[in-house]
Amino acid sequence: MKLILLGAPGAGKGTVAKLLTKIDGSVQISTGDILRNAVAAGTELGKQAQTAMNAGDLVSDDLIMGIMEQRLQEDDCKSGYLLDGFPRTIPQAKALKALLEKMGETLDAAVEIDVARDVILDRLTTRRTCSDCGEIYNIKSNPAKVDGVCDKCGGAVVQRDDETIEAISNRLNVYNEQTAPLVGFYQAEDLLLSVDATSSEAVISAIQAKIC
Ligand code: AMP
Repeated sequence: MKLILLGAPGAGKGTVAKLLTKIDGSVQISTGDILRNAVAAGTELGKQAQTAMNAGDLVSDDLIMGIMEQRLQEDDCKSGYLLDGFPRTIPQAKALKALLEKMGETLDAAVEIDVARDVILDRLTTRRTCSDCGEIYNIKSNPAKVDGVCDKCGGAVVQRDDETIEAISNRLNVYNEQTAPLVGFYQAEDLLLSVDATSSEAVISAIQAKIC
């Protein structure tokens, strides 16, 4: 399947994407993960993205489209893809539409995962991430067995720079201003599926009911 996963930071896009990859072999493409890897590796892309990311702002549309034009043409995308965190602005959505037309591809749906703001704030401020393998923990609901140490790879489990309360508030404002308008964009394209995200499984059932 070829899906866009829309939703505020912390809505569960990554979790849903990971579960879906296991169901049908589609590949998860997270622009946030691509950028974090570039920052960790100290590449030119990472240097350009880091300041905006730490503040919870968006990196430029040009930078993101450069990444995605390449990524969507890689071989593993032939079995389908789940776009997690992209597009995030109307210019990105329009550029993606043009790119897919050029590639002769069509999306199955743009799935809006809707979660209340207080739930998101709680989730993000308690989330911790392995700085080596990216495994996600939560200090309340899913802590690492040994505090600060990844169960999977032994790496350091830390709070992301953009998961301080200030950066999270900014990310939610940025979402409302720049990304939420994509809901109207995809409604007009007749691709929108809005799901009230009570659980990841409920989101997946709604997706399967719509497109399988
Ligand atoms: P995420 O993990 O998807 O929340 O992304 C983390 C950060 O990476 C965001 O707060 C942005 O700074 C940046 N980012 C990820 N995807 C995009 C995108 N499509 N457009 C602009 N910035 C992005």
